[in-house]
Amino acid sequence: MAARRTREPLRTCVGCRRVRAKSELVRIVRGPDGRARPDREGVASGRGAYVCPERPCIDRAQRRLAGALRASNVDFTELEDELLVL
Ligand SMILES: [Zn+2]
Repeated sequence: MAARRTREPLRTCVGCRRVRAKSELVRIVRGPDGRARPDREGVASGRGAYVCPERPCIDRAQRRLAGALRASNVDFTELEDELLVL
């Protein structure tokens, strides 16, 4: 593990399972409408998951997010568009 000193909270990417600083990941939340979407401010309520803003992680996360977020209708096209412009 990196010896970098940080007081930042750590989160695990649902795509690659790497533990990274929270600020390096994008939080995905399940909205009240059942759709998962990025939560840039990290303040939305509800179940959340974290993913690296990288295509391989997003691709893998797609297969896991539905279960992790209990989201019945996850719009990954919108999700990718938003994540990959970061
Ligand atoms: Zn990742």
